[in-house]
This record gives sequence, C-alpha cells and structure tokens, in this order.
Amino acid sequence: MAQGPKVFIFAPADETGECHRRIEAAGCSLVLGDASWHTPKGNNEDQMCAMADGAVALVGTSIRSSPITRRIMQAAGPGLRVVSKYTVGVDDVDVDAATDMGIMVTHAPTESNWGGVAEGTMAMMLALLKKVRERDEAMKAGGWRSPGLTGTYLGHRLSDDYPGVTIGIIGLGRIGRRVADLLAPWRVRILACDPYVEPSRFAIHNCKAVDLPTLLGESDVVSLHVTLTSETRGFFGAKEFAMMKPTAVFINTSRGQAVDEAAFAKALADGRIAAAASDVFEDEPLPKNSPLLKLGHKVLLSPHMVTSNARSGLYPGVLWATRSVLRILKGEVPDNVFNTEVIPRWRERFGGKAIC
Ligand code: NAD
Repeated sequence: MAQGPKVFIFAPADETGECHRRIEAAGCSLVLGDASWHTPKGNNEDQMCAMADGAVALVGTSIRSSPITRRIMQAAGPGLRVVSKYTVGVDDVDVDAATDMGIMVTHAPTESNWGGVAEGTMAMMLALLKKVRERDEAMKAGGWRSPGLTGTYLGHRLSDDYPGVTIGIIGLGRIGRRVADLLAPWRVRILACDPYVEPSRFAIHNCKAVDLPTLLGESDVVSLHVTLTSETRGFFGAKEFAMMKPTAVFINTSRGQAVDEAAFAKALADGRIAAAASDVFEDEPLPKNSPLLKLGHKVLLSPHMVTSNARSGLYPGVLWATRSVLRILKGEVPDNVFNTEVIPRWRERFGGKAIC
C-alpha cells in the first residue's frame, strides 16, 4: 500500500473503487471508515478521531449521526486541507469550525443529485394531487370509480380558462428552480419565497416573488427547498401550518430538521392541511413509533432516497469530490468550495504547495 499523504474516507460510497484507486495512484494512502457509518445509528467520533490522525483530507458521503466535528478536524492535525462531501448538504460538517481553522469544505451539487430531488418532488406532487395511491388501492380492494378518488387538474387551461393551482416554492436554489422549470409547461401559477436571491431569478423561472405569509396563504402546494441553516432549523412549525389553506398539501424534500415534525404530524392528524409528502425526517431512520407512520394516505413517506436513481445517485458526486481533493493536494482551489470565505487564508496556508 502507498505510504503518501493520508486521505481518510470517513463514509465510503465509491462502489466500484475507481475513485479510491485514483487517489492511491496519485500517491496517497487511504484509510477507509465503515460504510455502515453512513446509515444513522451510534456516534463514532472517537474511532473517527483515531482514524483521522495525520490526514490531509477527510472525504465521504453524509454521516449525520457522526458529524465531522471540530474535534475530528483537530485530531487530523495542522496538515488537514479539506473536508470533501460527495453530496450537496454539509449540515453534517462543522463548517464554522473548518473556516475558523483555515480548512476548505467542498460539496457536490451535481445535477444527478439536485435534478433527482426535483424529479422526486414532482412525483410526490402528482401522486398527492392525482390520488395515485388511493386509486390503486381502491381497485385492488375491489372498488371502481368513486367521487373520493377525484384528482386535481394542475395547470391553467386556456380553452376554458380554468385557473389551475398555485404552487409555492420556499427556497429558489438549484432544486427549487428546477421544480419551477419542470412545472413551466403546466402553466401553473408559481409563488416563490427566497430572501437571498436576486430579483431577476424569480422572473427567469416564472415565479412571483412573495413573502412567506403570502405564499402560505395562497398556495395549493407548499414545497420546501431551503438549505438547513441556523435560521431555517425548525422554522416551519404549527404557526406556518396554520397559515396554509386546509385544502393544501405540503412537501418536504429538503431537510427534516427544517420542520417541527410533531407540529407537522398534528397538522395532518387535525386536518389543518389536506395531505403531505416527506423524504426527510428530524431523526433518520424515522423512529418506528412516529405518528407519521399512522396517518395512512394523508402522508406519502420516502426513506430519504428521493434522489436515488439507477445510473445516477451519488457517483457523480464521488467523482467530483475526488477531483477536488486531488486538486487541493496539488495546492489548487477547486470550483465547488462551500465555505468560499476561507479561500484567502487557505491559499496562505497551502496555496501552490503540492503534496501529491
Ligand atoms: P441551494 O443552496 O441551491 O438552494 C437553497 C435555497 O434556499 C437558496 O437559494 C437560499 O437562498 C434559500 N434559503 C435559505 N434560507 C431561506 C429562507 N429562510 N427562506 C427562503 N429561502 C431560503 O440548495 P439546493 O441544492 O437547492 O438544496 C436545497 C435543499 O435540498 C437543501 O436543504 C439540501 O440539503 C436538500 N437536499 C435534499 C436531498 C435529499 O436527498 N432529500 C438531496 C439534495 C439536497
């Protein structure tokens, strides 16, 4: 085995091993964490600290039960250049600590990932509004047509001026924008709320910019696509559900922690909202005693794999992270840095200093 700079893959996801071989071919030595750490269970911080000792790069997929803490980065030592994620989300990395320590954090917002979430969001929206599950179940139970199985026509019809539904997108980033674009031919009315993007983005993606109360009050579908930040953690709760139309549906494919899950289950159980779909949960896997599991068709659940698709999934992110790490070990700045504010300091520490 090569004895070069140590790269610790804390949550491996390179199924073919091709990217591992590329890192080794560049002269690095690989230390592999346990792939099962990726699935939420016990915290493995102590073991990760021991394995990170002396590493120049920490790399892997999501590892929420054992986040990459300041302690793990400190355990790696002063040579640590990067924490590189195979995924979009970096909520399992203490990014503030990394920035503070002059360490770059990279992520992989690949089209495979964000495009997959947008497609999955559309699947959920259509399943809810067209009563796909209910119609199937009714037929298999011996039933046939019934008024309770009537769906919703989404689009604005020009022929009879049926107005169509209003879709509310909270967070007009990569995923929110793609959802808006996928809806374009349907001619639905789209409202969007995102205080952090420039005004032209709303018009480009056929959305009307509104504030959150307006979006909640007017939308027939509320779809959540915010990043998880200190501001959005738990920001969607009883007050927000109470502002929605009782006939509206709610979709969350962003992060479970953005929503107060108890309030979510209660809003559904009390009929405050009509139905919902969720791919993400406060605690994953969803605990067996979760009230969400007892709500029947009112909620469509997905085990945080809305973006898992054949010939897609994580692999583009694995490739992207591998390329980034190899550039970083050459002393170069890659193009997918999450904490861009660290770049000047990082350049002072490692710029132009190739170690492989
Ligand atoms: P992005 O960074 O491109 O977009 C997020 C948007 O949220 C940004 O435009 C930001 O301005 C906006 N935002 C932040 N705070 C807001 C607030 N308080 N109100 C309204 N908007 C706010 O991210 P993305 O790639 O579009 O991903 C969106 C979310 O989807 C993230 O939470 C990500 O972790 C999640 N995600 C989930 C999966 C999955 O498997 N379910 C996969 C990929 C991404």
